[in-house]
Amino acid sequence: EMRSSITSSSSRRRSEKEVVMFPFMAQGHIIPFLALALQIESKKSFSITFVNTPLNIRKLRSTLPHNSSIRLLEIPFSSSDHGLPPNSENTDVLPYPYVIRLLEASTSLKPAFQKILQDRKPLCVIADLFFGWTASVAKELGIFHVVFSGCSGFGLACYCSLWLNLPHRKINDGSDGYFSLPDFEEANKIHMSQLPLNISEANGEDAWSKFQFQNLSHWFNSDGMLFNTVSGFDQLGLMYFRRKFNRPVWPIGPVLLPSESRASVGKQTEFTSMVCREWLDSKPLNSVLYVSFGSMNTISPSQMMELATALDRCNKNFIWVVRPPIGFDINSEFKAEEWLPEGFEERVKGRGLLVQSWAPQVEILSHNAVSAFLSHCGWNSAIESLSNGVPMLAWPMAAEQFFNAVLLEREVGVCVEVARGKMCEVRHQDLVDKIELVMSNRDKGSEMRKKASELKDMIEIAVKDDDEEISGLKGSSSKALDDFFCAAMAYETEQYSMK
Ligand code: UDP
Repeated sequence: EMRSSITSSSSRRRSEKEVVMFPFMAQGHIIPFLALALQIESKKSFSITFVNTPLNIRKLRSTLPHNSSIRLLEIPFSSSDHGLPPNSENTDVLPYPYVIRLLEASTSLKPAFQKILQDRKPLCVIADLFFGWTASVAKELGIFHVVFSGCSGFGLACYCSLWLNLPHRKINDGSDGYFSLPDFEEANKIHMSQLPLNISEANGEDAWSKFQFQNLSHWFNSDGMLFNTVSGFDQLGLMYFRRKFNRPVWPIGPVLLPSESRASVGKQTEFTSMVCREWLDSKPLNSVLYVSFGSMNTISPSQMMELATALDRCNKNFIWVVRPPIGFDINSEFKAEEWLPEGFEERVKGRGLLVQSWAPQVEILSHNAVSAFLSHCGWNSAIESLSNGVPMLAWPMAAEQFFNAVLLEREVGVCVEVARGKMCEVRHQDLVDKIELVMSNRDKGSEMRKKASELKDMIEIAVKDDDEEISGLKGSSSKALDDFFCAAMAYETEQYSMK
């Protein structure tokens, strides 16, 4: 009975029940939230209110499809009140040291958010993993609350465990740099070189430690977690959260943004899309390496030289999204050739396509000419790659990317790590060897490709939906989303009966 009442009716009739969604102000967070909002809108009969600060809402207005019924709601915020530059409401316009300040400033949204919930009385709140405090607000008002993670279960489990325990602080100088996670032994040994900068510098007293500790302690007030992942390959991490917080965890991924919305969220142009498509169309099946490090991270000038040399030497087709290197003066104009070996573009002509700044990544990954993806392992990139059956070369750089790489390499077997961190020394020969290994049609290369294609099938099955439930074919992710809404409705019923 309950099931049928939460699936969307073809007449698009909306029930009164409302879902409030509230992502942190960063593209890497807003994108999966928006993808989830659009998915809920298309499949379920709830009204959706998407909360964010004024400038982000303004940008989102031009992103939402015209016929969307998602309500965009501004929560008042002025960056200059918080020691941030004026009009800076998204990490994409803030230098890294300001990110923690934006996080700290976000806790000041509490009274305004409380008011929103009081006024709207929604069925549930789906909040960002950096907005732990929203759980306490929702709890006080008797509203069902979940944290939605755009990270993998495994990656986030390592990341949370590190912040909660700071285990790397306890190893002594004479050790080999390896340590384990006290509450997540399943992750095996972690090495110091796998720590993002803010964790390796954390001492429990710094701004990041304080923020994370506070934030995570609020999660105990939440009623569960949604993950943009698939239960079939991410069990260990999901289990960590079930155990740690003693709450249900619903793996509902992959939620991916439809291509119409992708174009306006990013900075891609129709022209770049056309150039990439035509270029890929001219290349043989499984012959192209795609190289990109996401929307925020870049490599150092010397790493850029090594990578270019590797691409020059390995004689493979490639698309490389070239972004200004670390230390680049953002006030000057970026000219890729000034940062590449002399004559590089000439030598790779015909087999190498350089795209400056932003490429149509999902279109590229879904093209059958693409054979492998050299990636920083941001979870959106990873899950886009897996959804298209493309094996990966990992160069993790920040946050939980190091542990996404571990999941993909050790647990899933579709990835080889080639380098670690923004400061590491990479040698071009090393890159050449690993690129050849992964792109080869023999041995490990063909094994990984086979595994990646099995994963693609697994993902397709996980998101199977519609009336297939009747025949017992509803996929694990679709079922998890149903289960989540059932839990929210049951919670609401219980609240009423207590009154
Ligand atoms: N992306 C893209 N073109 C680019 C770079 C990134 O379309 O040139 C998209 C990519 O498809 C993904 C997102 O931006 O959806 C990046 O998210 P991810 O979690 O991989 O990394 P982040 O940018 O958050 O580090």
